[in-house]
Amino acid sequence: MASDWPPTLSPEHERALLALASDYSLSHGLVLRPVPSPADHDISQTSAIHAPYSLFPSPFPARLFQQAKALQPLYNQLYAAITADDHFLEEVVGGAVAKVDEFQGRLYDIWKTVKQEGIRQPISLGLFRSDYLIHAPSENKDAWELKQVEFNTISSSFGALSTRVGEMHRYLLSSGLYPFHPSLTPASLPQNGALAGLAAGLAAAHRAYGKDDAVVLMVIQDNERNAFDQRLIEWEVVDKHGIRLLRVPFSQLRTTLSLAPSSSDSTSPAPHSLLYTPPHPFPSSSPSALTPAPVEVSLVYYRTAYSPTDYYTPAEWSTRLLIERSRAIKCPSVAMQLAGAKKVQQVLSLAHQLERGVPSAAERAQLRASFTGLWPMDDSDEGREGQRRARDEPERYVLKPQREGGGNNIYRGDIPPFLAALAAQDEHKADGEPKGREGYILMSLIEPPREVAQVLVRGGEAQGRRADVVSELGVYGVVLVDEERGKVIRNETVGHLLRTKGRESDEGGVAVGFSVIDSPWLI
Ligand code: ADP
Ligand code: MG
Ligand code: MG
Repeated sequence: MASDWPPTLSPEHERALLALASDYSLSHGLVLRPVPSPADHDISQTSAIHAPYSLFPSPFPARLFQQAKALQPLYNQLYAAITADDHFLEEVVGGAVAKVDEFQGRLYDIWKTVKQEGIRQPISLGLFRSDYLIHAPSENKDAWELKQVEFNTISSSFGALSTRVGEMHRYLLSSGLYPFHPSLTPASLPQNGALAGLAAGLAAAHRAYGKDDAVVLMVIQDNERNAFDQRLIEWEVVDKHGIRLLRVPFSQLRTTLSLAPSSSDSTSPAPHSLLYTPPHPFPSSSPSALTPAPVEVSLVYYRTAYSPTDYYTPAEWSTRLLIERSRAIKCPSVAMQLAGAKKVQQVLSLAHQLERGVPSAAERAQLRASFTGLWPMDDSDEGREGQRRARDEPERYVLKPQREGGGNNIYRGDIPPFLAALAAQDEHKADGEPKGREGYILMSLIEPPREVAQVLVRGGEAQGRRADVVSELGVYGVVLVDEERGKVIRNETVGHLLRTKGRESDEGGVAVGFSVIDSPWLI
């Protein structure tokens, strides 16, 4: 796109456009809870601010957008296969990763424990998001390529708010307040089915459980600011599908969850059903009831539990184990969460690894074309090559731990001193123990197109015309998989997310304040 887009508007024009966008976002739930002031302990439950967004949709090559959409069913199938592949998970996650990374190790132990006891619910739900950047080493657009940044199998967020931003951009275009551009037309703004599709995925899993009056449990973080991205999904599940959904903080599950005991009574829940007993009686329960009645949980949908800091006390680990032992369907199961480890992404790029999950050679070639350079940091041949690259030309790479949620990666020149510090810690280890670096992967930096501008809006204010922004495309996929048989019951591409940030910021999280939610303008 020519670097003269978006044109500079007169101050009055820009104010009018910002006022319209602000009203649109406040009245359509494109909002977050405000950052609490230092004096407040808790986040406000009664006020909201608009989520950060771009004032305009961002130009995105239609060819690469369609390619990302078409890849999603293949990625869904691949990650469903990995989730069901015990041997692969044992080898890839159960090796050095579980030993050097305490968090992965604890998840791995839960998986092993439940596996040994016997999995009681082989069906699991994936609400995935595959994230991409455009690799544009030259100005020749025909040579630009779509490259995968990462694949998220747990708590993929912003499906609802991204749907709203797309609708807002469409509305702003129809308002006549956008400056004219011949190719910026309604047809160039793709529909986004993320909100409806993610909710439909939850509803499909609930139906697969087979008990109409059970509830879906959405497990959230304490003091969640991104509450409305979650609430919009809840309203959709309730209104469109007639299913009850309870949104409960992880920390409240310490005392409210239990497993149904064995019983000969045919009216009581099956053994190992997951029961939630609300801390206060629901209005719908009998007025005379002194003790709240437990409800059976069909599906546990995590919007937390992906980071060590989500497990506030050892009790959250006990809760995770209890849920995993239950008959409830999990979104995701521990196996599916492990499948989303960055280590898995790296191993999949090695020769012959894709064969396990993707029988079609043509499909494997499509997936492989979306990979960028990935190396292990162990003592294999590839690992020695990774270490050499990290040492000799760090400016071309990012080093990633097995973490989610943004802010964890090590970039460029920071890599060698970081590796040196890890090596110093290894000196205290016994011979034969895996090295700290083996918990990391090395990845080539993708080089997004240059000279793309945007107006990023935060707190009602345009942050000026940015000379150089970078957009990351996420594609949402829904998969319902039977882990015992590796059978895929449902496999869909449902929608997308575009996040845009200033090029100078390496990380891309909206929640952490680096990026804004955007929508694609297909060119
Ligand atoms: P997380 O799971 O924490 O979101 P990511 O792998 O998505 O981790 O990395 C966070 C951010 O770092 C991405 O959103 C992107 O902005 C940047 N990033 C990650 N990998 C690359 C890469 N290979 N090239 C360029 N930027 C990258
Ligand atoms: Mg991630
Ligand atoms: Mg990411």
